[in-house]
Amino acid sequence: MNEIILIKNGEIALKGLNRGNFEDMLIKNCKRRLRRVGSFKFSKAQSTIYVTPAQEDIDLDEAMDCLSTVYGIAALCRSAVCEKDMQVICTTAAEYLADQLSAVKTFKVETKRSDKRFPLPSPQISAEVGGYLLSKFHNLKVDVHNPDLIVTVEVRDFGAYVHAGQTPGAGGIPVGSGGRAALLISGGIDSPVAGCMMAKRGLEVIGIHFASPPYTSDRALYKVEQLVQKMTRWCGRIYMYVVPFTKIQEEIRDKVPEDYFTLVMRRFMMRISEKIALRENCGALITGESLGQVASQTMQALGCTDIVTTLPVLRPVIGMDKEEIVAFSRKIDTFEISIQPYEDCCTVFTPAHPKTKPKVADLEEIEKALDMEGLIREAVEGAEGKVFHQN
Ligand code: ATP
Ligand code: MG
Repeated sequence: MNEIILIKNGEIALKGLNRGNFEDMLIKNCKRRLRRVGSFKFSKAQSTIYVTPAQEDIDLDEAMDCLSTVYGIAALCRSAVCEKDMQVICTTAAEYLADQLSAVKTFKVETKRSDKRFPLPSPQISAEVGGYLLSKFHNLKVDVHNPDLIVTVEVRDFGAYVHAGQTPGAGGIPVGSGGRAALLISGGIDSPVAGCMMAKRGLEVIGIHFASPPYTSDRALYKVEQLVQKMTRWCGRIYMYVVPFTKIQEEIRDKVPEDYFTLVMRRFMMRISEKIALRENCGALITGESLGQVASQTMQALGCTDIVTTLPVLRPVIGMDKEEIVAFSRKIDTFEISIQPYEDCCTVFTPAHPKTKPKVADLEEIEKALDMEGLIREAVEGAEGKVFHQN
């Protein structure tokens, strides 16, 4: 029995003239994701991508698992493929779905006939396959309204496909189809979620992490690396920069009024990230900020950080409650790592009473005490990159 995976495109189907590019991007991403499972052939037709095993002994469960994290896929379907001949379709359905058909009481057959040259119309194909299955499985009755199992027959250009339903894909649009953006990633719950949400909307993500040794430990950095590694399942390969931030934080501690510590620090982060992002061809910055979550995430505080960069700052979790962010982080499997208790540079030198309604003019005045340009240059030059491959 030959098996195949059918990938149903989601929003890509709506992309008009660009559809071909989106599909090619999706195929490229699927190929990369499946590399460790084995060798596959890819083809596309009628809003569907056909993934055919090109070697013996391929674990299709594993392939389905890998593809379930590829953005741009609306639904996935593991299916038997056979000749477009009614007798063959009937026996294939009986054989391929024998376990499922034996385990249920009611079923129905649905047919999609996109090959309009096939001699029988859809209802007749369903009726014939249904009749055949009833003759083979005496436990079965037809229930068209509420069946335990739906047997689907798809008659397409290159063959007939029989399966028992599709599983939902990751949704979204293919990573890379919208360009590239730089994610400011901490070790917390929110920023990995923000990165994956933007990957879901088609962005390739690079990471930027600010580390302040010895105030932040090797373990804290390792935690961020583990998070980035997890994210690669959804985002594909990720290049991450680690920016040395100790000197800047010490300068802030020594020269900035305490209630402005966090804000000045965040303005440094934005400026440094912008420089790295532009060098890396990124069109935006991404952060994990959520309105009102902490003092540095009030509307006024966000205004004071936005103003130091000309790049758009994407904050996909801005309107989400913590619970919703946690649910997403469980889904992308970063939650358990995120809650490990290691310090972040944001948690060293935290003010007791941070300003919640800061003014840009005050911040500009305060920053005059610092060698902004020199500190930023040094941090950018000291940034070290490391690549994380999807596994
Ligand atoms: P998270 O859960 O992502 O850590 P948070 O709610 O703890 O977010 P903050 O610590 O105030 O919030 O950080 C807000 C955002 O600033 C983060 O989501 C992240 O985008 C960025 N950020 C914070 N710390 C760092 C860091 N050390 N390196 C890079 N970006 C950071
Ligand atoms: Mg944090």
